[in-house]
Parts: sequence; C-alpha cells; structure tokens
Amino acid sequence: MDYLDGCEQAQEYAIQTLGHMQRHGIPATPPNFRVWYDYAAGRNPTLRAALDVMISNRREFSAKVCDEIYEQFYSGHHESDKVRQISARVEEAITKALHSIDVAGSGTAQFGEALSGFSGQVTAAGRDGQFQSIIAGIVAETKAMELRNAELERQLTSTSSEMGQLRTHLDEIRREASLDPLTGIANRKVFDNSLTACAAEAMESGSELCLLMVDIDHFKKFNDSWGHQVGDQVLKLVARTLKDQARETDVSARYGGEEFAVILPNTTLKQAVALANQIRYALTDKQLVKKSTGQDMGRITASIGVARFDYGEPLSQLIGRADEALYMAKRDGRNRVVAQDALETEMSVAH
Ligand code: GH3
Ligand code: MG
Ligand code: MG
Repeated sequence: MDYLDGCEQAQEYAIQTLGHMQRHGIPATPPNFRVWYDYAAGRNPTLRAALDVMISNRREFSAKVCDEIYEQFYSGHHESDKVRQISARVEEAITKALHSIDVAGSGTAQFGEALSGFSGQVTAAGRDGQFQSIIAGIVAETKAMELRNAELERQLTSTSSEMGQLRTHLDEIRREASLDPLTGIANRKVFDNSLTACAAEAMESGSELCLLMVDIDHFKKFNDSWGHQVGDQVLKLVARTLKDQARETDVSARYGGEEFAVILPNTTLKQAVALANQIRYALTDKQLVKKSTGQDMGRITASIGVARFDYGEPLSQLIGRADEALYMAKRDGRNRVVAQDALETEMSVAH
C-alpha cells in the first residue's frame, strides 16, 4: 500500500496513531504502528471495522492479539498487493491506449473524409488551369496521406487486438493464481482473503457467518491401499461435492492436503450443521470403483467441524474453533459433524 500523505497530514495521523496505541496499552512497534496508522488514516475500511468492533467489545490488545491482527491484515498479502498494483497499472495503460487508438482511428477517418470533400468542391468550381494543377497536387497529397493513414490505422488495429489479448491473458493468470491446481477449487490464499472479506461484511451487515473444516477420514490408508493417483481423484471428487452442495455465495477451498474449508456467509450455526451433514451424506453415498480393474474401493467418509464467527475475534481463533470441533469429530469415531457448541458443553462438563 502506498503512503502518499503529505508531511503535515502524516504527522497528524502519527499523533492520532500514538494516541490510540497509548489508550489501548499497545507497544509502538513498527507492525503495531502500521496497523494503527492505517486505522487513524481510515485507509482500510475492513481493518477499521474489525478494530472498532474489538474496541467496543473491550477486547484486550495483548501482544498475541496484536500479532494476529497484523497477520490477518498484512502478512502474506504483501506480495499479492504488489501483483494487484502492477495489474492495475497495466489495466490502466491498456485502457488509455485503447481509448487513444479509438480516437486516432475515428480522427483519421474524419480527416480523410473532410479533405476529399473539400478537394471535390474545389475541382468542380475551378476554371484556371494552374489553379487546377495546384488542386490536383493537393488531391494527390491527400490520397497519399490517406494511404499512410490507412496503414497506420491497420497497425493500430493490430496493436489494439494484441492489447485485448493481453488483458484476457492477465485475467487468466489471475484466475489460475487463485485456484488449487489439482481440484480446481479456491486455494488457501483465496480462502484467507475471502474469510477476511466475509468477516468484515458480516460485521457491517450484522449477519451470521459460519465456517466448516472438512477432513477426509483415514485417507492415508486409502492412499496406501489404492495409490496416490487414485487418492488424487478422491480429492477432486470431494472438491466437486463441496461445490455441488454449497451455494454460489459460499466459498469452498482446499485448505491443505486432504483438508477443505467452506465459508458460509449469512448462515446460522444450525444451517451450517445441516449443510455439513448434507456434504457428509453426499460423500458416503458414492460407491468408489477403480476404473482400470472394476475393483470396489468402498466409500470414503469425512469428519466436519463447524464454527460461528464472533464479531471482532481474530480469524485464526474462528479457524481454531472449527479445527477443535473437527478433532472432536475424529475422536468420537469419524464420519460425523461436530459444532462448536459441543466443545462448550464438553468444557462445562469437565469443570
Ligand atoms: P484421519 O482420519 O485422522 O484424518 O486420518 P488420515 O489418514 O486422513 O490423516 P493423516 O493426517 O494421517 O494423513 C493424511 C493423508 O493425506 C496423508 C497424505 O498422503 C494424504 N494426502 C495429503 N495431500 C494429498 C494429495 O495431494 N494427494 C493424495 N493422494 N494424498 C494426499
Ligand atoms: Mg484425514
Ligand atoms: Mg488432515
């Protein structure tokens, strides 16, 4: 992110930044300063909304919480920010160039038309031979220029089509960079960015947001029995099942290895549990057959943890809760769904 604030403006923000940090007992380390400078300058609405909610919830800004805020909003995004900035510049340059080409093209055509109209009129009106020969010269020049212009237009048109292709290429690169190459669903980077965006949206609109963590059961054994390549086909199948069962607005992603995540905006915990069970049934419903030999490979099952976002909490905490629920599902025998409220019950029973 570029900092283009003038000297006075930057100083004003810096004073406000230190004020915020002092009020909340936050050490003025460079990462913390960056977070609260951006908060003071209001340059990142998502960050501002998240911190406002945390302040109103009187959350303590411990070193751990501060690290998590930094991690959530800056770490790992730096490189993609740069890519985004460069892409934006290329986009801008392309748009400007396409516009100039458009203007130049129509200007050339107009110029040619005007000149040939003018030369036609003069030729018709002229009687004097010398005068006519000058006009003939102008007409010849005009024709030559029209030819040169036509060539220029041809070149511009070809450049313009090249630029159009470049833009399509850029879109493809962006799309590929956001997909998991094996399963074709969103990758971890998109998951992280989407979760941040969905959390901000939930806080802004006051809606509920849930998260599913899905892990295939005994997948190591499956790989050992049937081979890694068949295992890869199963990962594709799971990804497809998640996509099929989720809504358009949900984000299904490969979280890593044989673990998947589904972000569910505008969803209550109860609805999220229902969807998780639907996913589980859809998976166990599929009888796996080895194509090459026709052998029955049985069925795969998955365990799913479900958590609901608490406004203002660090997203690592939300993911952690879904993970804990997932581990509880594993401990309880696998092929099941466990929601975060079961963790709370377990904790109160233990007390
Ligand atoms: P659990 O029910 O406790 O989750 O057992 P598990 O065997 O599924 O879990 P574990 O973490 O022991 O093993 C995960 C396995 O997932 C091991 C690894 O080979 C496999 N795996 C991870 N990524 C890939 C992949 O891209 N392709 C294939 N075929 N297998 C993968
Ligand atoms: Mg597993
Ligand atoms: Mg796992």
